[in-house]
Amino acid sequence: MSKRDYYVVLGIERNATEDEIKKAYRRLAMEYHPDKNPGDKVAEEKFKEAAEAYEVLKDAQKRRLYDTYGHAGVKGSGGQDPFAGFDFDLSDALRTFMSEGFGFGDIFGMGGGRGNRRTRGADLQIRLALTLEEIATGVKKKIKIKRLVTCSTCGGSGAKAGTSPSSCPECGGTGEIKRITRSLFGQFINVSACGRCGGSGRVIQEKCTDCHGEGRSKGEKTIEIEIPPGVASGNYITVRGEGNIGANGGSPGDVIIIIDEKEHDYFERHGDDVLYDLPLSFVQAALGDTVEVPTLTGKAELEIAPGTQSGKILRMRGKGIPHLQGHGKGDQLVRIMVWTPKKLTKEEKALLKKLASSENLKPPHAGKGIFDKIKNVFT
Ligand SMILES: [Zn+2]
Ligand SMILES: [Zn+2]
Repeated sequence: MSKRDYYVVLGIERNATEDEIKKAYRRLAMEYHPDKNPGDKVAEEKFKEAAEAYEVLKDAQKRRLYDTYGHAGVKGSGGQDPFAGFDFDLSDALRTFMSEGFGFGDIFGMGGGRGNRRTRGADLQIRLALTLEEIATGVKKKIKIKRLVTCSTCGGSGAKAGTSPSSCPECGGTGEIKRITRSLFGQFINVSACGRCGGSGRVIQEKCTDCHGEGRSKGEKTIEIEIPPGVASGNYITVRGEGNIGANGGSPGDVIIIIDEKEHDYFERHGDDVLYDLPLSFVQAALGDTVEVPTLTGKAELEIAPGTQSGKILRMRGKGIPHLQGHGKGDQLVRIMVWTPKKLTKEEKALLKKLASSENLKPPHAGKGIFDKIKNVFT
């Protein structure tokens, strides 16, 4: 059997930097670690091979020797036999692995926490109801937030006034408990959060009477946020750092504001267009008229052409909701509804009866083409 080239083993260039060497080793070590590949002899060999290559290449002097003399240059004994001296076994490989500060968290992707655990505070979710008018123009809103803040009595330490937290006797203030376990592959150091102090490394003898040792207390704040025009239900806005403060002096979470759109009395939203139903009298529809219609930003005039059919949709360009992304606005669509009177006086009836015999007032037969198509107007 012949040894593979260390650079080939780590999959790096001969001029790789220290950082590149470390990264390459780390990746291989994670992939082939025996705990991830139990009983897999090939993986074990690869793990050993990578550690051996790393042991040599991370050391500038050994690397120079290796670059000059190859494997023979870095043998432990310095003898002639290229397979004799450098005896790198699994326990050496594991030692290399552990000495790089990799813990179990790293292997299993848990992100092992080192040192005191300062957890980030929780995010707060707040629903904010907006009218279509507010959505059309954008709006500034003041929102009262109830959240956990640093306890003012103890300054966040959790200890009673006049006292201070002491170092945890269980973990010696490190917040971690190391357990040495022996397995088939050698010695493992398992690092976990200290149960006594919860990973903070500190214990409180006498708790703060206001926060009961939590270091946090209930507080309130009013924040002002600016809602851009064009938002829709389900959109959310994140306000960084305004959520709950973290435990043990951790950073605060965020406030997440979720938009709820209020239903409008007479506008119906379709994307960035709004639909408005306009009732017209038969006379207005027949003769044409100029009418005033409401829009999301005030009243506007609309021309009704003579002979406008019920169901026709008129488009008022740019009177809809601004596009959230990009420029421009949607339209206001005005759907004509010709209104039929329910009550009539004697004279009105007489006048209408007189008109009824007129040829022009009789609708044609057959359905197609009489009314303007209104299908697919929103697509
Ligand atoms: Zn307190
Ligand atoms: Zn502890």
